[in-house]
Amino acid sequence: MSKSLILSVFLVFLAGSVFACVDPYNPNDVTIGNCQANDITNYRITDNLPVLTPSDLSASELAIHEANMNYTLNLSKSMNRKFVATIYDANNNLMCSGVNTGKPNMISHGEIVAINNCSALYNTTVFTNMTLYTTGEPCAMCASALLWADFKTVVYGTANKRLYCQTCMSNIPIDSSYIMGRYYGLRNRAPRLIGGVLQSLTDAWFTSYCDKPNSIYYMQPQCACQSSTPTTAPTTA
Ligand SMILES: [Zn+2]
Repeated sequence: MSKSLILSVFLVFLAGSVFACVDPYNPNDVTIGNCQANDITNYRITDNLPVLTPSDLSASELAIHEANMNYTLNLSKSMNRKFVATIYDANNNLMCSGVNTGKPNMISHGEIVAINNCSALYNTTVFTNMTLYTTGEPCAMCASALLWADFKTVVYGTANKRLYCQTCMSNIPIDSSYIMGRYYGLRNRAPRLIGGVLQSLTDAWFTSYCDKPNSIYYMQPQCACQSSTPTTAPTTA
């Protein structure tokens, strides 16, 4: 190897050492807190909020949630509107409800309407210790609103993944558990998030838009699909 080639390799190595990209945010060694003026800043990395399911609950708690979800679903059916939310206080008294009618605009989701109805009725600004029920999982907007409103517990029937991936319903493809896992920006405790309550009934209530491409609710989903049908070993003759 010539001297010039050795020198070139050395210079390339030296340049690589000087200009190597150093990751400024290694969660293993950064200090989490209030950054100084000259710090490079980033948010704390956090996990999504675990979603409790009916099997995680005691029989007595599940009975309460199923009764309230059943009321919410029946209200939804009586109004012939898919997305309905109800709010119960800490003593399990029904406070108010909200129906997504698409009026006056597209952000009038059941959860938002229910919050506004409660505020109008009771002059309530925060919902600490209250529980919200919704036929369909809160979207990213509503999950954020529920955090801002400080709900203690959020209960839903059908998950966003099913509504978006299997029924072609337009939505921002973000799980509510992703939003709610970032609760630390607003408060010191996470809400309880319970999914799949009376899911078989709420699933049946949501119709598919996959064959209605002209509907304003339709969107061709982009999902990672996996067959739930177990593969069987090929039989040999
Ligand atoms: Zn929403």
